Amino acid sequence: MGAAEIAAARPYPPREAGDDPLQLARQRMAATGQWHPLQSMGRRWAIGCVALEITQRCNLDCTLCYLSDHSEAVKDIPLAEVLSRVDAIAAQYGPGTEVQVTGGDPTLRARDELVAIVRYVAEAGLYPNLFTNGIKATRDLLRDLARVGLRDVAFHIDTTQNRKGFADENALNALRAEYIARARGLGLRILFNTTVHDGNLAEIPDVARFMVAQAADVSLASFQLQAATGRGVAGGSEGLVNSTNVARQIQRGAGARISFDTPFAGHGDCNRHALTLVSRGRVVDLYDDKPVMAAIMAHTAEMKFERMPAWRAAAAIGWRLLTRPAFARAMLPWGLRKLAALRGRPHRLAFFIHDFMDAGALDRCRIEACVFMVQTADGPISMCLHNAKRDDFILQPLALPGQAGMWNPLTGQASTETRVTNPAITAKTAKGRVRVTHVRKASWKEQS
Ligand code: SF4
Repeated sequence: MGAAEIAAARPYPPREAGDDPLQLARQRMAATGQWHPLQSMGRRWAIGCVALEITQRCNLDCTLCYLSDHSEAVKDIPLAEVLSRVDAIAAQYGPGTEVQVTGGDPTLRARDELVAIVRYVAEAGLYPNLFTNGIKATRDLLRDLARVGLRDVAFHIDTTQNRKGFADENALNALRAEYIARARGLGLRILFNTTVHDGNLAEIPDVARFMVAQAADVSLASFQLQAATGRGVAGGSEGLVNSTNVARQIQRGAGARISFDTPFAGHGDCNRHALTLVSRGRVVDLYDDKPVMAAIMAHTAEMKFERMPAWRAAAAIGWRLLTRPAFARAMLPWGLRKLAALRGRPHRLAFFIHDFMDAGALDRCRIEACVFMVQTADGPISMCLHNAKRDDFILQPLALPGQAGMWNPLTGQASTETRVTNPAITAKTAKGRVRVTHVRKASWKEQS
């Protein structure tokens, strides 16, 4: 996609009343050559997830941050606007849609508003998960959020964050263990996000090994690949950070062969997904048989296993096997092989590899097949596209119901301005590349 095309790109319009979200998703997969028996989009769900950014502020300054140079200068969008975006997500994609409550870091939002937002997402019949760097995600806060319907907490921890006292990914496993202890026993699924970059690719086996050891508590380990987008100082990878190498590193750490090319989540160049059972440290690959997986996807498309307790998922499949002999015939040999491979009580552990695109190299077909959206005031748009033109959305004055004038993102007040110019960046709001320049200038001034 060229600069003009990116600049002209708009969010998806609201779907027509009679349109079926799952059918619309299937049409997008077919139009981009991604529809096949192992495609989850348009079969299991109408969209992978939708990010609901409730603040642009963050208490970290990661070297691969996707936020923009102006994000820190922007006020949190009003609660009414956040809730109307939740309504729009429910209307567009239907009940059960996964909503990432994120930012910046959502825990910087006023606590009562964060709780109100999660409650509203849950009451809208959607599936709320909290994406946070965990610094302010205390057990007390997680308990309150779980009480109002939070389902997952996804902790983002890795060496792009330059956390003091943690020299590498192995050292960060201690922090990961601390965060697990904070969330354990609250009825939340625990997920971890790790950005993979040139500097920690060699350490990914340490992360995977940790996740396998913690499989009783951890449901998903997700790896986001280095991308030149946003304000981060690191820029794009020198080439080694790609889905194949990351999958290899995960298998090295897990000590097992794991299939990353069976079910698809959207475009094959965007996402890789794996599902395993871990029993006494032994990792059993569940996606190693494509025909069996195609049969499971065909016969259980509407079942959200990953959200069910293991016993209910087993019961649901068991009933389906009993009532569909053809399915049972396809499954039984595979099922017996998996059972025989277990060494005790199994725990489900999923791995996900998400290959974000550089802002300057957006592939139109991948954007059209995108399964990860950001909800804007004007509708959902692909996350890669949103990151490439984030200021167009965050610096946009908003018309708020019952309010005269427009909500101004820089003042947080009503004003007559329908456009705001790029705010001056101050030492207080400087992050990423701009902060580095500021610091350099300041030290240069001191020296001169
Ligand atoms: S956000 Fe980007 S990498 Fe992810 S699915 Fe969408 S287009 Fe693909």
